[in-house]
Amino acid sequence: MMHQIPTIKLEMLSAALQFRLRNGGSQSRAAMITCPICSAPAFIRRSERLSETTKLLGAHCTNTGCGATAEWVISLKWMVNPGLIDRSDLDLPRCPPERITQVFPPDPEEDTNQLSMFPEE
Ligand SMILES: [Zn+2]
Repeated sequence: MMHQIPTIKLEMLSAALQFRLRNGGSQSRAAMITCPICSAPAFIRRSERLSETTKLLGAHCTNTGCGATAEWVISLKWMVNPGLIDRSDLDLPRCPPERITQVFPPDPEEDTNQLSMFPEE
């Protein structure tokens, strides 16, 4: 039986992953998650794939005054685009169509800053 996550009527939240800057400003490749105790970045120290749709993350808070360690279970909410490989056996939940961002090019009739490719007659 598939665990049903209740639908939340909010905009999709950005991922809690953060990137730490090294000396000189280059980005570290270390994945981070926010500490639930003090909200400082926490290093993801280990991860374990529990299933096709869930992963266990173990993290250590970077705040030396906190030092908390914690484990998260990250789970798939839904597929926005199911991709080209048929995995109907997984029965993955699909993103509701109204949640998918639609981007159309600007209407050239309304956008007066748009240059025309065709000479005006
Ligand atoms: Zn902390």
